[in-house]
This record gives sequence, structure tokens and C-alpha cells, in this order.
Amino acid sequence: MNRQASINSYEKAKNLAPAGVHSPVRAFGAVGGAPIFFEKGKGAEITDIDGNTYLDFCMSWGALAAGHAHPQVVEKVSEQVAKGTHYGTPTLLDIELAELICDAIKPMNRVRFVNSGTEAVMTAIRLARGITKKNKIVKIHGAYHGHLDSLLVAAGSGLVTQGQSSSAGVTEGCVQDTLLIPYDSEEALEEVFKAHKDEIAGVIIEPILANNGLFEHKMSYLNKLRQLCTENCAMLIFDEVITGFRVALGGAQEKYGIEADIATYGKVIGGGMPIGAVAAKKEYLEQLAPTGPVYQAGTLSGNPVGMAAGIATMKALKEGNFYGKHIKELGHYFDEKITQACQNAKLPMDFRRVDAIFWLTPGTDTAPNAPSEITEENAKVYAGLFNHFLEQGIYIAPSAYEVGFLTLSHSKEHIDKLAKAIETYDL
Ligand code: PMP
Repeated sequence: MNRQASINSYEKAKNLAPAGVHSPVRAFGAVGGAPIFFEKGKGAEITDIDGNTYLDFCMSWGALAAGHAHPQVVEKVSEQVAKGTHYGTPTLLDIELAELICDAIKPMNRVRFVNSGTEAVMTAIRLARGITKKNKIVKIHGAYHGHLDSLLVAAGSGLVTQGQSSSAGVTEGCVQDTLLIPYDSEEALEEVFKAHKDEIAGVIIEPILANNGLFEHKMSYLNKLRQLCTENCAMLIFDEVITGFRVALGGAQEKYGIEADIATYGKVIGGGMPIGAVAAKKEYLEQLAPTGPVYQAGTLSGNPVGMAAGIATMKALKEGNFYGKHIKELGHYFDEKITQACQNAKLPMDFRRVDAIFWLTPGTDTAPNAPSEITEENAKVYAGLFNHFLEQGIYIAPSAYEVGFLTLSHSKEHIDKLAKAIETYDL
């Protein structure tokens, strides 16, 4: 497979942007080689600037639940672009997308659109502090919530630790109110609320951990979390940037039957356009400006092109019975085929799937049960698999810690192709 045009473009891009990219994992640092420059996509396939076409399971890191260039999205977006890209005013499209969202996440009935998942989380944290008039935010070790200063925290040992930033440029002051607890530990939850009684504004979690492998919390953990937040007047913040409108129409809240106090969204609801959203019940969300004292604003928020893409995506997902028949059937087929492929593979290989999200774990016969079990060796083996997949015309996320996505555009034939690539992988 010739990728010379991408290699040449990478050389040029490196003189213009750090590592030639505009978000770090795109640089292929973990898998080696030059990042591939793409120029078009259709359904489940993307084509690079050398003319190579790949079956895509990265799907813009989960932003494209209906697939690339879905005809309804293209039509609605083109129509809107011709009428202007932004007005900086309310539009009817804001109302339409907000209605689609609020209908799906009842009893939450208010939403504010922003421009990214990070921005949504940043707003949610400020809102939690504003509502509770408390400072501390509890975060799960290994969870990712975007690149806001106060949550760029990963280090820590013991049950409850104060965060230390994992990024240069973040002051101690920024992270002094971030408390880290290990994944899925009910004991740690109880401990943190005991140790910081009356100080905790909220707990933020990815209801399904999906940025550091793929891990479901125990149901008893989620119930305990809900109970402790209620008892301690702390906001339970579900970061549904990945799970929202994907694992069910109503996201993880619907899947697990747990009501969060604040939820954040991104990815799916923008159909590949820059978008984020914060949602809550009226009494909480109206604490945001201008109805409330918690300031938040955005020049490009509620951008009509993004709104149009989001509306068209949500409609396409509904019409395609994405959450029902499509993902149930495809998921079942995926489990059968990929289990078999992992057994037939020449090298140890396993996977985990939760609805439309999956994670391949080459290098091990049994997928790790906690983020702490992912080894450096796993990451190395993944690089080999990634490059083998490229040669087979399959594109997955260029990092062992990132998940893959099944979309409305994926079919059983696509899963067959993935299975075959797994079976033919060798060192
Ligand atoms: N929260 C979660 C759970 C995410 O997965 C991400 C991005 N992968 C973010 C927040 C940040 O979103 P964005 O990259 O749009 O800022």
C-alpha cells in the first residue's frame, strides 16, 4: 500500500503544527509511522490522499454514529451552509436539537450547547460548584474528561489522593480541589465522602470507562455513587461524551436506570461537527447565565451547521433503528465472529464490547478487568496489529487505550473483514 503522499504531507505539516497534528493521538506516536491524511469518507469507509480506501472503526473517535457523509446529514448541512454558517443568535435549529435531546434524557429538561466535550465538562464542573457552593470534584483514576486544567489529573496512590497534574502548565492551585479515587471501588467512594464531608461539589464519571480501555462499572457501584451524592448534596455528573446517544438513545442514564444531576454530551449529537452540550433539570441548568449566577458563554455555541448535522444524525439513527435492531443484531454478530477470530488468531487476542463500543486487546487471551491491568506490552503488541490492519485496509484508533465504534453504516460484511484481519495477524 503506497502512502507516499501522506508521508510527504506529514513532513510539511510538522513545520506548521506540533507533530503536524491538531490533537496529539492523531500523530501515530503509539503505533509508529506517519499519520495518514484523509480526504473523503462514505458510510463506513474513508479514503486517504494516496487513494487508499479503509474500512473505518475509529469513526472520527466516535463522532460519526451514522457513518461518513450520511446523505441526510449532507443534505441538511449543505442547505444550512448555503443560508449562512453562523448568526450568533437563537435559531429554530437550536430548538429542534434541544427538543430531540431533552425528549431522550427525561427528566432532564434543559440543555446548553457548547463547542466541544471539554467545554461541556468545564461548564458542568463550574455549575456543580455554583449550585452546591462547594469546591472539591471527585474524579475516577484513568477517566478522561477533556483537557480542562482541573481534570488533567491522573497520578495518585492509595484510596483517596489529591490530584497531581499529568500535564505541564497546570498549576497546583488548579488541581488542589480535584480528588482522585480508583476505578469501581465502593470503598474508595465511601472514604472520599467521609474524608471530605461537606466539601464535595460533585463526582464526575464516565459511566462506562471508554478512554482507557473499555470497562463497565458494577451496577452496585453506580447505585452507591448515586446514593452517596444524594446523601452528601453533591452533584452526580455523568460525562456522556462517548456514551450519550450511543449505548441507548438516553445514553448511560437510560441503560443503567440511574439519574445523574448533570450530564455532558458531545460527539454523536454533532454528527461530526464541533459540538458539546450540558444538560440537567431546569432548577440546576438555570443556574447558568443569564438566568443564574454561573457564567458561561460562547460566540459559536449553537452553531446552525452543527445543529443541522446533529438533527439529521439523530433522525437517521432513529429511522435506522440504531439502538434497537441494528446494534443488537450487529453486536451479536460481532461477538460471535470476533470471539471465533480471536480463538483462531495466531497470537493472543481478546476483545470487549458494550453496545456500539468495542475494544480490541491483542497480546492477551483475556481482556484486562481494570485500567490498571493494561500493560506496556499490550500497547506494543497493539502497534503491530494496527499496522497489520492498515495493510488489510482497516483503520482503527492509533492507540491501545482507545476504543472502536460500530455505527449505522457498519454491516455484517464489515465485521467479516475485521475477523479475517484478526485471524491473519502474525508477527
Ligand atoms: N469526555 C469524554 C468522556 C471524552 O471521551 C472526551 C473526548 N474523547 C471528552 C470529554 C472531551 O471531548 P472533546 O475532545 O470534544 O473536547
